[in-house]
Amino acid sequence: MPIAPQARRCFLCPRACGAERTESSPGFCGADEAWQDFRVARVMLHHWEEPFISGSRGSGAVFFSGCALRCAFCQNRPISHDRGGDRLSPAALTAAVVTLLEGGAHNINLVTPSHYADRIPVWLERLKAVPAWQTRPVPVVWNSSAYETPASIAGLSGSVDVFLPDLKFASPGLASDLAGAPDYPPVALAAIQAMLRLQPDAVFGSDGLLRRGVVIRHLVLPGHWRDSLEVVRQLARSVPLQTPLSLMCQYTPQETRLAGHPELDRRLTTWEYRQVLDAALDLGFTNILGQERASANSAYTPDFAERLRPGRC
Ligand code: SF4
Repeated sequence: MPIAPQARRCFLCPRACGAERTESSPGFCGADEAWQDFRVARVMLHHWEEPFISGSRGSGAVFFSGCALRCAFCQNRPISHDRGGDRLSPAALTAAVVTLLEGGAHNINLVTPSHYADRIPVWLERLKAVPAWQTRPVPVVWNSSAYETPASIAGLSGSVDVFLPDLKFASPGLASDLAGAPDYPPVALAAIQAMLRLQPDAVFGSDGLLRRGVVIRHLVLPGHWRDSLEVVRQLARSVPLQTPLSLMCQYTPQETRLAGHPELDRRLTTWEYRQVLDAALDLGFTNILGQERASANSAYTPDFAERLRPGRC
């Protein structure tokens, strides 16, 4: 009588949920596909990343479905929480990415890829062998929440050129309240430090586009600018001050109010944003990218389900 294979369980991210990642036993992140496959919501030329990522022709964005962090205020909720998207084999994902390369993408931008960190290096190796890549290789961008383990990041050595991690919260209480992850602040800082070990220097091309390095993003939330001050203080103690810092004000309220968080039902004020920007400058960060008020618009959020409403911060 054949012995049934032991179920394979996933402990890839800090959630360490141990799920089998099957339809009947999906991960906390929502992953329920076979062990070599992906679930992808959208593959597109993205023009609303930072200018040094999107350039003039757009960033080749691959929006993975699901997320291990799942913030309550997520701007990409239809794909991060609701698991919208299609299952793609590695070959199908390669074919989709080749269309981006042929469309002129400045880079391949892997958005919310953390729950696929185990298989992405193997997939990238195959991608880099196809003629379209060999003809015009581009930087690979890892665009994540930073809710990742140092081991998971170390596994990306040699595969990823640019890291675009968020640092979302400084307070364990806020991280618990808004993402159910009280361990987020130290975990994310350790992940960012692991990224800096792989790509310590930000290198820009003559065209102004980022070729390699780490750019840390922080979205200032309405009503939580004091936590944002602590975010930039923690960063100032933990990373070199020349590390590029992208401070974002693009928070857009969702259609459905978040229970218990009336402060998140509005846009950020200029005053709140300015407190954080000034603090980062005072702390000595030398490469800060700020945003203009007009960027607080759902145009920054790709239209996955036409559920986000436009507006200004
Ligand atoms: S990557 Fe997903 S399935 Fe794996 S431990 Fe994290 S949440 Fe669970």
